[in-house]
Amino acid sequence: MDKISIMQHLKKVDFLKDLPGLESLAENCQATNLFPNDFLFKEGETGESMFIITEGCLEVIKENRTIALRAEGEYIGEMALLGNQTRSASIKATSNVKAIEIKENVFKSFLISNPEALLPLVKTLALRSKQELEILASDNRELETQKKINKRFNRILDDTVNEIYILDPDTYKVIRANLKASTNLGYPLNKFGNFFFNGLFSDFTWDELNAHIQTLLNNEQAQASFAGQLKRKDGSTYPVEVRIQYLDTEEPAQFFAIVEDITERKTMEDHIKQLAFYDTLTDLPNRNLLKDRMQVMLEHAKRYDKKFAALYMDMDNFKAVNDALGHDAGDQFLKSVTKRLKECLRKEDTLGRMSGDEFIILLPNLNDEKDASNLAQKINSIMESPFLIANKEIFSNFSIGVSYYPDDGNDIATLLKNADIAMYRAKEVGGHTYQLFTESMNEKINKRMTMEQNLRQALDNDELKLYYQPKVDEKGTLSSLEALIRWPQPEGKMISPGVFIPIAEESRIIGLIGKWVIIEACKQIQEWKTKFGRSIKVAVNVSGKQFEQTDLVKDIKEVLETAKIDPSLLEVEVTETAMMRDIDSVISVLDKLKEFGVQSSIDDFGSGYTSLGYLKKFPVHSLKIDQSFIHGFKDKSNQAIIEGIITICKVMGLEVVAEGVETEEQLEYLKTLKCDIYQGYLFYKPLPADEVAKQFFQN
Ligand code: C2E
Ligand code: MG
Ligand code: MG
Repeated sequence: MDKISIMQHLKKVDFLKDLPGLESLAENCQATNLFPNDFLFKEGETGESMFIITEGCLEVIKENRTIALRAEGEYIGEMALLGNQTRSASIKATSNVKAIEIKENVFKSFLISNPEALLPLVKTLALRSKQELEILASDNRELETQKKINKRFNRILDDTVNEIYILDPDTYKVIRANLKASTNLGYPLNKFGNFFFNGLFSDFTWDELNAHIQTLLNNEQAQASFAGQLKRKDGSTYPVEVRIQYLDTEEPAQFFAIVEDITERKTMEDHIKQLAFYDTLTDLPNRNLLKDRMQVMLEHAKRYDKKFAALYMDMDNFKAVNDALGHDAGDQFLKSVTKRLKECLRKEDTLGRMSGDEFIILLPNLNDEKDASNLAQKINSIMESPFLIANKEIFSNFSIGVSYYPDDGNDIATLLKNADIAMYRAKEVGGHTYQLFTESMNEKINKRMTMEQNLRQALDNDELKLYYQPKVDEKGTLSSLEALIRWPQPEGKMISPGVFIPIAEESRIIGLIGKWVIIEACKQIQEWKTKFGRSIKVAVNVSGKQFEQTDLVKDIKEVLETAKIDPSLLEVEVTETAMMRDIDSVISVLDKLKEFGVQSSIDDFGSGYTSLGYLKKFPVHSLKIDQSFIHGFKDKSNQAIIEGIITICKVMGLEVVAEGVETEEQLEYLKTLKCDIYQGYLFYKPLPADEVAKQFFQN
C-alpha cells in the first residue's frame, strides 16, 4: 500500500485527522491481511498495535457474545497505543480483511514529535470504553429481564388452577411439578422428583399410561387426554382429567402434563344426572330411568327367555290427603309410602315414581307368575296400617295393575300401557286391589277411546238432547221435571247417560257437557214460559267432576242471568257418592247456590254412606231415595232403609222423593209412608221437550 493511500486512511481516524506530521506515522505503518474467522487478536492478550480497516468486516466479541461490528474506515485496538494493554475483546474477521497496523512503539515515537495527539487519543478511548460499557449494561439488562420473565413464568405455572408436570420422556418420572400439584396431593415440591407419573394415580398402571403416550409418540395426535383418579398423600383420591403433550422441540424432549381436578364438575354432572334420572322428592328412579331399566330388563329377558312383570300402582285417595293436609304433608306422606314400599321388595326389583301418586315396580326373573300377585297383595296389606303424618292418622291404598313380559307385550310402551289399563280396572272395581291385564280390558279401553272421540264430536255438532222426566205428587200432579241427557245414534238408538257420562267424567268433556245441560235446560224453561206462560222447575244432574273441574256457581249464575230465569226454577241433583267424595267443597258450592236461590237435592240417596252428622250440614232441600230400594221394597232391610230415610226427611224438614216407581204396589207402599214426591215409569218415562209440552202445557 502506498504512502498516499495510507495517509488517506490515517486521516479518517478521529483522533489523528487534524494532527500535523502524519506522513512520518504513515511511513512506519504496515499492512496486514486476514481470512474469514481469523482472529486479529483475542480477549485478554497483551496488545501492541492498533488497526485501521481498509477492506472487509470484523466482529468484536466479548464474553463469547458479538457486541459490535467494525467495517472499512473504522479502527480497532487503539488501547494498545497506550502501552501493552490487555485486549478487552476478541476481534474476528467475518470476511477477507485488509488493515493498516500501527505499532505501539511507532506511535510512541510519533507522539514524541506530536505530543498534542495524546489528548484526542485519550478522549476517543474514554468515549469508546463508555460505549462498550453501555452495550454491556444493556445486555445485562436484557439478561435481567429474561430472568424476570422466567421467574414470572414459573410463578404463573405455580399459580395456575391446574396441576402441571414435566416428565422425563424415558421413565415418565416427574422432573418438575408446580405448586398446585404440591397443594393438591399434599407432598412438598422437592419430593416429586421421586415419583413416576403413573404412580400418582390410584387407578393407572404404567402400561395404561404408556398406551396413551404411544399415541403421542406415533404422532397420532398432538395431545392425549384421559380421566383418572389421583391419590393424595393421605390416601384419599379425587377425579382428574389429564392432558399430556410431547415437547420434542425441547432439548432433551419432555412430556408436559396438565392435570385438572374435576371433583366439582363431577359433582355437578352427578347432580344433573340425579335430576334427570331420579325423582327429587323420593330419590326413586323417575320415569326416564324406569324406562331405561325396563329396556335393559326386556333385552335380558328376551335373550335368556325369562319373564318379568310390571306393576303400575296408583294411590286411591292421594288427592284427598293432599287437599286436606296441604302439600308439605302430602310430600311427607309420599316419602313414608316410598319407605314402606321399599321394605317389601327384593334387591333386584326396581321401584320408581312415575308422577304424583303413581309408582311402578319392575320384577325381573319371575319364576312363578304368582310372584307379582303375591307382591300386589303384600303391598296392600302393608298399606293397611295408618301413616302418621302431621299428627294425623292417614289411611291409603293402592290400585295396582300388572302386566307380564312376554304375555302382555313385547315392548316397554305396550307393557306399561297394559299395566296402566289393568290398574285402571282395579280402580273401577273400587280400588285397594290389583288386576292382572287381560286382552278384554284392552278392547274395552279402545272402545272407550272411540266413544270419547265420538262424544266430543256429538257435543260440537249439537247432537246431544235433553229428555225430561216428570216428578209428581201423590195425586199424580206434575210437580217438577228432571232433565236427563240423551245421545241419539244415527241408527235411531240412544246411548244411555249411564254409559257415556262416566267416560265424559274421565276426560274434561264432562265440564263442557255439564254446562251445555244447564244452558239447554234454562233455554227450555224460558221457551215453555214464553210459549205457554208456564214456569216449571227443572232439575239438572251435576257430576262430582263438575265440582272439581269447573266453577259451577259462576257458570249457573251466568246462564240464569243471560236467560233471565228465576233461580228457583233451577235445581241441581248431586249423587250421594259424589257429595261424599269431596264433602267440604260440595257443601260450599251448594251453600252459594242456595244463597242465590238455586235449590239442590241428593240423588240416589241410601246407596252411599252419608252419616247423619253430615246430612245436617248439607244445604239441600230434598233427598231422592235410590231406585234400588224402591225396586226391592219387599225386602225387609230395604223397607228399613226406605222408612229410615223418610223419617229423617220428616224430622229434618226435607222433601223426600221416591225414584224408579214402576208398580202400583210400590206406590201404595210409599204412600202409606207419606212420601212427598214420586218419579218413575208408573207415571212418566223421560220425555222429549215437545212431548212434555203436549202432555202438560198445550190445551
Ligand atoms: P238419575 O239422576 O238417578 O236418573 C234416574 C234414572 O233412572 C234415569 O236414567 C231414568 O231414565 C231412570 N228411571 C226413571 N224412572 C225409572 C223407573 O221407573 N224404572 C227404571 N228402571 N228406571 C227409571 P238415565 O236417564 O239413563 O240416567 C241415568 C243416570 O245418568 C242418572 O241417574 C244420572 O245420574 C245420570 N245422568 C243423566 N243425565 C245426566 C246429566 O245431564 N248430567 C249428569 N252429570 N248425569 C246425568
Ligand atoms: Mg237424577
Ligand atoms: Mg237417581
